[in-house]
Amino acid sequence: MAYLKFDPNLGEDGYFGAYGGQFMPETLMGPLGELESAFREARDDEGFRAEFENLLRDFVGRPTALGHARKLSAHYGTAPIFLKREDLAHTGAHKINNALGQVLLARRMGKTRVIAETGAGQHGVATATACAHLGLTCCVYMGEVDMERQALNVYRMRLMGAEVRGVSSGSRTLKDAINEAIRDWVGSVESTHYVLGSVLGPHPYPLMVRTFHECIGREARAQILDACGRLPSHLVACVGGGSNAMGLFYAFLGDDVAMVGVEAGGTGTGPGEHAARFGTGRVGVLHGTRSVLLQDDAGNILPTHSVSAGLDYPSVGPEHAHYRDAGRITYARAGDDDALAAFHRLCQMEGILPALESSHALAHLDVLMPTLGADDLVVVNLSGRGDKDVSTVQASDSRA
Ligand SMILES: *Cc1c(COP(=O)(O)O)cnc(C)c1O
Repeated sequence: MAYLKFDPNLGEDGYFGAYGGQFMPETLMGPLGELESAFREARDDEGFRAEFENLLRDFVGRPTALGHARKLSAHYGTAPIFLKREDLAHTGAHKINNALGQVLLARRMGKTRVIAETGAGQHGVATATACAHLGLTCCVYMGEVDMERQALNVYRMRLMGAEVRGVSSGSRTLKDAINEAIRDWVGSVESTHYVLGSVLGPHPYPLMVRTFHECIGREARAQILDACGRLPSHLVACVGGGSNAMGLFYAFLGDDVAMVGVEAGGTGTGPGEHAARFGTGRVGVLHGTRSVLLQDDAGNILPTHSVSAGLDYPSVGPEHAHYRDAGRITYARAGDDDALAAFHRLCQMEGILPALESSHALAHLDVLMPTLGADDLVVVNLSGRGDKDVSTVQASDSRA
């Protein structure tokens, strides 16, 4: 297969081809520039890198395992499937890699306070955890509707000493929480760092968040070579903002390895029924970055739906939009019901309870595996554990 030549400098200037950039209020352009310089200096500093690596090892529990899913592989009967076990990371998902990296950077910059926004609460919990561990004050913005739906995560954040501020404007969900967090940052930027939770937002966030997650693919590459003596033929990961997917994919971009990102197909293809941006989305700007958005003809952001809160966002990371256009990464969708079926299958066949987000990646195996042969080798990113989703799954069972 002929692939786009891998460019390690892509994104360094804030652009991934036609996507990315820095579309923010004037008052934040200076602070974003400072953040960019601080990130570059930290990235080049042995001391910072060593401290981050030590935290990943001793606090997060990295490297996370890469395991052969024997019964799942036999179920399809074509190629072996390996699971990269981000569900085994501290707090139960990949998000802690980025939260720790950014909070460590905030402390290095002399900031004493951290803010974050959260939808389902997973990024809020990861950030609150990192702040407790590293000794920074933490304030998390969350829509009031989400606070009700995710009461347990609100309590987990408070247990870690974080303040959770309810947002009562708009639809009282994630995008309103983002607006509130940005408003806070405009007024507090001297003391405060804004921890963004995916490969989204203005430069340098997409580049920085991906960098802090690159450990996923670096580990997986060494682990699969060790286990099988060859590289995988295919990588599969779910794509909300796209951080767990970029984290896995990045180390393989220069190799002859096919990559599939799986978006939330929800309940249908109509507006408001899914979050599959690469289906009907069009180019636009949201929350500081140019990417592919679900919007109507007048440019209004459309509502989205997914059974998994972590995939339920109208935009996608700009790096993904670039690699989609370039044909380097392909994108598929999996619906709510397919994800739920994949969730049950992994529980029963492998004794692993996957996050509903990760279950979308697993659901794509139904499409991919019948097209493969014994020479192929698949790695699926199991981005998180599903304990948080058990009540959602239980409710769907009683509906069925
Ligand atoms: C937040 C989350 C996602 C989606 O975010 P990405 O930035 O696309 O990785 C996926 N899986 C889990 C378990 C999550 O918590």
